[in-house]
Amino acid sequence: MNKYYQENKEKVIQRTREWYQQHKNDKDYIEKKKNYRTENREKIKKDGRKWRNNSKKKYVRGYRNYIDEHIIETRKKARNYSKENPEKTLECQRRYREKNKAYMKMVIETSLMIKEGEIEKKPCNVCGQIEVMAYHLDRINPFNIVFLCKEHFWDRKKQEYRKKKDNR
Ligand SMILES: [Zn+2]
Repeated sequence: MNKYYQENKEKVIQRTREWYQQHKNDKDYIEKKKNYRTENREKIKKDGRKWRNNSKKKYVRGYRNYIDEHIIETRKKARNYSKENPEKTLECQRRYREKNKAYMKMVIETSLMIKEGEIEKKPCNVCGQIEVMAYHLDRINPFNIVFLCKEHFWDRKKQEYRKKKDNR
């Protein structure tokens, strides 16, 4: 970084911003930008990764807030993505099942016991809705469950997932 920039940082940023506002719709500029992106794909990816690592907490918080505020669109997008990429989705599911074999077995066990009436189904623990899923409070005991409606089930899953990520 040169001396001029160091001493005139604010001014340079301001001028760059102005320049960008004036030229952002120029055909020439758009073309150049596109070329730059294609030629420097790896570098851009690396820079992005570096930036995300540096500001990970901020980034994660922003990302999570965005998801929470746009939950319906986000879910719709995810559904569309899996519809458009069936192989990827299947592969992902297969890998998840492989990684969580014991857990999956326990989930099936619980649902069988519910079906056979060994475990009594209850309304959603949060909102009282009748249509419910069993949410496992640990990954070992098939009886250690609470019943949650679809919405609260996935809400809880999301929280669990985020907590796990934060502690990693
Ligand atoms: Zn509920």
